[in-house]
Amino acid sequence: MTVAVISHPSCSLHDNGFPHHPESPERLDAINNQLIASGVDWLIRHYDAAPARREHLLRVHGAGHVERVFGASPEGDGVATLDGDTAMTRHSLEAALHAAGAAVMGVDLVFGGAHSQAFCAVRPPGHHAGRDNAAGFCLFNNVAVGAAHAMAEHDMNRIAIVDFDVHHGDGTENIFGGDERVLLCSSFQHPFYPFNGADTDLPNVLNLPLPAGTGSREWRAAVSERWLPALRDFAPGLVMISAGFDSHLEDDMGDFNLVEADYAWITTELCRIASECCGQRMVSCLEGGYDLSSLGRSAAAHIKAMAEYH
Ligand SMILES: [Zn+2]
Repeated sequence: MTVAVISHPSCSLHDNGFPHHPESPERLDAINNQLIASGVDWLIRHYDAAPARREHLLRVHGAGHVERVFGASPEGDGVATLDGDTAMTRHSLEAALHAAGAAVMGVDLVFGGAHSQAFCAVRPPGHHAGRDNAAGFCLFNNVAVGAAHAMAEHDMNRIAIVDFDVHHGDGTENIFGGDERVLLCSSFQHPFYPFNGADTDLPNVLNLPLPAGTGSREWRAAVSERWLPALRDFAPGLVMISAGFDSHLEDDMGDFNLVEADYAWITTELCRIASECCGQRMVSCLEGGYDLSSLGRSAAAHIKAMAEYH
């Protein structure tokens, strides 16, 4: 079965408000170009996302936050700053609504049976956005909006969210920490931005804080020991992924040394668990990844591993 790749033209129009920002529109081009160059394109089907509606957002965000983002949306050449490194320009709201809407569409596609797996090639990313705040380039928490949609519309009460971005998925933890319908697994460089998550003590959160310099061997060992058995025990009805590729060796945003083969490896491991537990249902959302070459290669390896899993 082909993998659904969901995006929207507005996701390429979002501009973070100053030149040479690492979270750039070229990131999506890099992924698309590599999907074609590596021959993965025939394994996928492209979809345009519909925008998330307020009711989708309000399942995971407070009304105050949602209204603040809508209200901040600038016109013309204005730049609205929401936190130290999160800003909006005139296309940002539309992009953020379609990024969250892509996760909703991905969930509907895998529960509708059209696809087993979906990848949301979207920006802005989402995993630093908490219930009541934007942060770290994120306005709405896309993966959380998707998970909450699966709960509300598809009666799903066992969702695994696996986050392999180099940064802790603190927004997702803020939203679902303590909610036993969700098992959260986040590996991240520690100590490092956003400087939290290492001492989280919640039964549904399996954080892996790892030191700068962590490479394939150490990361795979930690994932194999701490996550994979717990994910099997949890027996998810849906596997969601916060796919951050800034944990790559060539990405200067962080100091992890992962490579494409590691993303393919964890994808295959998660496909195996999803195959055992839930008919392979998997929805992955792009988070970080700022070095364009390694981002494209890593996302292509991730999607190829999904498509080729039998
Ligand atoms: Zn990141």
